Amino acid sequence: MFDAIGFDADDTLWHNERLFSMTQEKFRGILKEHAPDLVDRQLLDTEKKNLQVFGYGIKGFVLSMIETSIQLTKGGISGNEIEQIMDFGREMLTAPIQLLEHVEDTLQYLQNNYILLLITKGDLIDQETKIARSGLSDYFNSIEIISEKNVPAYQKILDKHQIQPERFLMVGNSIRSDILPVLEMGGTAVYIPYEIDWAHEHDSKPGSSASFHEMTHLGQLPGWLKTMEVKTG
Ligand SMILES: [Mg+2]
Repeated sequence: MFDAIGFDADDTLWHNERLFSMTQEKFRGILKEHAPDLVDRQLLDTEKKNLQVFGYGIKGFVLSMIETSIQLTKGGISGNEIEQIMDFGREMLTAPIQLLEHVEDTLQYLQNNYILLLITKGDLIDQETKIARSGLSDYFNSIEIISEKNVPAYQKILDKHQIQPERFLMVGNSIRSDILPVLEMGGTAVYIPYEIDWAHEHDSKPGSSASFHEMTHLGQLPGWLKTMEVKTG
């Protein structure tokens, strides 16, 4: 049924968004004297605007926090406070990687039967060090770090590995990045929602079809794959 399985990394294999929400809470603390109610909305607007220039990742997030703090304090933020924001970024970049449940067992089980690809978007250094710290690199035949997860980007990866879209399964927590482009291309997608959704990645779920499946955790993947193999003989 499938030759290759692609896995998203952040919030599919390890916790990530949690780190951003925890940092955002500390950031709200810095601005609590100024405009606490506006922080979340202003930060999201700034992040969206900056994505085009700075891309995804922690460095872009830090720059967006600094920009937001300057705007909300009308230039009154102190050098010390900006330094604190930069320290948040340093802490995030070196934070230990916490794998989600069932990840290691599942990859270990699947690696013998499928080509496994790690497909993630974001800042290159940021993602490379996270993958190294996760200890999961050896399970993957290839690691693809791309700037945007859209149809041409997925197509390029499949072409490179000579995989037919019909024989490709993608697993991830983002409807917009991991599910919709893969379905559009003719592949199959498994959606495993994470406890927190980044507002920018929010998109409505596709209608039910044979190519779209939802699970609550990665440990359910091997069992589901077995039933798929039986169905298709
Ligand atoms: Mg993700």
